[in-house]
Amino acid sequence: MIIANYIRPWAKGWGTFAGFFSRDDLGERRQIDMAETVDRTRNTTEMRRSAMDFPRRLDRARNLSDLAEIGKRAVEAAMGRSHQWVAGDTMEDALHVAREVNARGLDALINHLGEHHRDKAPVEATSQEYVRLLAAMRSNGIRGGVSLKPTQFGLLLGREYALSQILPVLDEAKKDGRTVWLDMESVPTTDDAIWICERLLERHDQVGICLQANLKRTSGDLERLLRAGARIRLVKGAYKESPDVALQSRAEIDRAYLAHLETLFTRARDFAVATHDDRMVARTLELAKAHPTPFDFAMLQGVRDPLERELIGKGQRVEKYISYGPKWLPYFSRRLREWPRDILVMVRSFVGG
Ligand SMILES: Cc1cc2nc3c(=O)[nH]c(=O)nc-3n(C[C@H](O)[C@H](O)[C@H](O)COP(=O)(O)OP(=O)(O)OC[C@H]3O[C@@H](n4cnc5c(N)ncnc54)[C@H](O)[C@@H]3O)c2cc1C
Repeated sequence: MIIANYIRPWAKGWGTFAGFFSRDDLGERRQIDMAETVDRTRNTTEMRRSAMDFPRRLDRARNLSDLAEIGKRAVEAAMGRSHQWVAGDTMEDALHVAREVNARGLDALINHLGEHHRDKAPVEATSQEYVRLLAAMRSNGIRGGVSLKPTQFGLLLGREYALSQILPVLDEAKKDGRTVWLDMESVPTTDDAIWICERLLERHDQVGICLQANLKRTSGDLERLLRAGARIRLVKGAYKESPDVALQSRAEIDRAYLAHLETLFTRARDFAVATHDDRMVARTLELAKAHPTPFDFAMLQGVRDPLERELIGKGQRVEKYISYGPKWLPYFSRRLREWPRDILVMVRSFVGG
């Protein structure tokens, strides 16, 4: 009871929290068809009811073991949701999803989860993991490439060191002409990620890098990387950045995305349009009619499977970004921030019993 008293004020916040996100959710998904909308409204109402009930459940938690049970459910709920976006803990899990994805006509873009390594041991283990992964993709006949996070390769220990750890991966990818993509992380790493990309391009022409439409610097980076011959993956940007370096409103970011898209269609080679946004997809399809440039749509695992099928049906190339590994929490929290409806699903599963 005493413990519940500490937690109750926090828990009461769930009601407001649920109301805020459910409105936002319904407002944001205007393009979804009627049946899906009705279903979502019913689910959202149920979720809101469960979330409202959370303080009462905490009141009833009489001892530490009751609270431990609620905490355990929260972790299990989070892990359950993580499986929507993550293939599993092991390389075999990723290869399994990649095989299925290939069978449905999509290419696989595999990422081993992990970031911000500050010790050499995990960096070197990561480098070996990707070399083994590429060899396994070859022996399993998997179509697609890999996508690496620079800080997973020791960027925080120095860009030369990170480059030295990526080179074995690049050499393995080069054996069967696969693309090595660099994910883009938060702003303090942008210059070094671009520097690494340029060095990799000196050894292999199938190197790509992600550029984020929310960053004010992106037009300049796009020019520079197009000149260097990099493949570009255009995204809106998943990291919260300050107003001096990044656009803040959705409208501004969308406008920037559309402007970069035009540049890609007129100037780039074989780029990737990475979005789940119907409006960006529709504009891409319009531009594709006017410019016969090869490009891929790229989407994250577990976000818009029906849209992927629709695009494949229209003869478009689609890549699926597949993440695996036990370190799913930072990736998972970025996805939750983008799609708050999933927080409500989690709340429901751990307060609803
Ligand atoms: C292949 C790929 C690689 C990426 N790599 C990077 C990277 O290296 N660096 C980086 O900063 N960002 C990366 N991102 C993330 C990107 O920056 C965005 O944060 C993310 O894609 C959401 O933006 P959006 O274009 O889908 O549009 P949004 O405006 O965020 O979403 C549009 C619509 O998509 C749907 N949607 C979006 N997210 C979800 C979700 N999680 N669950 C369910 N539905 C959802 C909803 O219908 C939403 O209304 C990557 C994205 C993709 C697809």
